[in-house]
Amino acid sequence: MKPTAEDYIEACYAEDTQLQAVLARIDAAGMPQISVDPGYGRLLTLLVLMCQPKDVLEIGALGGYSGLCLARGLDAAGKLLSLELQPAYAQLAAETMRACGYGEQVQYRIGDAKASMRQLAEEGRRFDFFFIDAEKKGYPAYLELALALARPGALIVADNVLLHGRVADPLERAGHVQALREFNAAVAADPRLDSAILPAYDGLAIARVKAAGQLAD
Ligand code: MG
Repeated sequence: MKPTAEDYIEACYAEDTQLQAVLARIDAAGMPQISVDPGYGRLLTLLVLMCQPKDVLEIGALGGYSGLCLARGLDAAGKLLSLELQPAYAQLAAETMRACGYGEQVQYRIGDAKASMRQLAEEGRRFDFFFIDAEKKGYPAYLELALALARPGALIVADNVLLHGRVADPLERAGHVQALREFNAAVAADPRLDSAILPAYDGLAIARVKAAGQLAD
């Protein structure tokens, strides 16, 4: 079979032994292998390096694969807060981050991400980088809550916005597929955002929250 464009690009890069070890730990723990694709993991690191955020909020930790990609881009003052529903997942992610030397820069909050985000808003917390990769029905709500928690110029990145082609198929009517359509439409049309949606792998949305002065245009 002809290699895909993604296969070809992956072959350009040397194997990342640290990330391979994370995937092996996720597998050994019996957790689903639904970590962000390696090409977008590299993009997360690159975006964090470019933005130099002080406060990153990750929605959905899983086993720490994307957390490690985000942490690799942080400067020494940067912090990652990761929201995770499953205590066992958060524990594995925390162990991953400690093993990779980022234990001091990352914290976890267990529970429903929407509730945690509302609580963070009440605490007056603000973030300049968001990575959304959690339960898909929640995406439209995560976007609104991210906007409420965002500093001007913040970046909001979201994984799996295509659900392996299902989002683009008009015959697909499942609730989580409809939620992703609503999310993508909002990312594309919201006047508070500049955005692009990348169709490779399983789709990645990247949006930047406009500063107050940019909202008029
Ligand atoms: Mg994902």
